[in-house]
Amino acid sequence: MQALVVDDSKAVRSILTRILGELGFGVAQAADGVEALAELRKMKPDLALVDWNMPHLNGLELVVAIRRQGTYDGVKLMMVTTESETHQMVRALDAGADEYVMKPFTKDVIVDKLKLLGFPVRQDA
Ligand SMILES: [Mg+2]
Repeated sequence: MQALVVDDSKAVRSILTRILGELGFGVAQAADGVEALAELRKMKPDLALVDWNMPHLNGLELVVAIRRQGTYDGVKLMMVTTESETHQMVRALDAGADEYVMKPFTKDVIVDKLKLLGFPVRQDA
């Protein structure tokens, strides 16, 4: 399983990379939506975790761009967002996001959402 972590915060990228690694994912990172699109072309991940507020191309714009391109239909998109952006989530879901996680998140929440998306993650990982 391959995952792409997209967030302009290096700290958040590190946390998510560690969690996903422990769960058995190979993980690549991108610091904004433009980098993410470049990575997607290279790696074709099974999952992308997408921050909302990022420079160049924000999370919503990235979701729209990904879903516009049929080659990425297989990728599950999980928005990782802050409380203040909750009211926007319906827009992201309408645009093709599959799930969302609120910041600050715990590993348990990530595990639960991955299970909802059908990934075979171990509860005790
Ligand atoms: Mg951000």
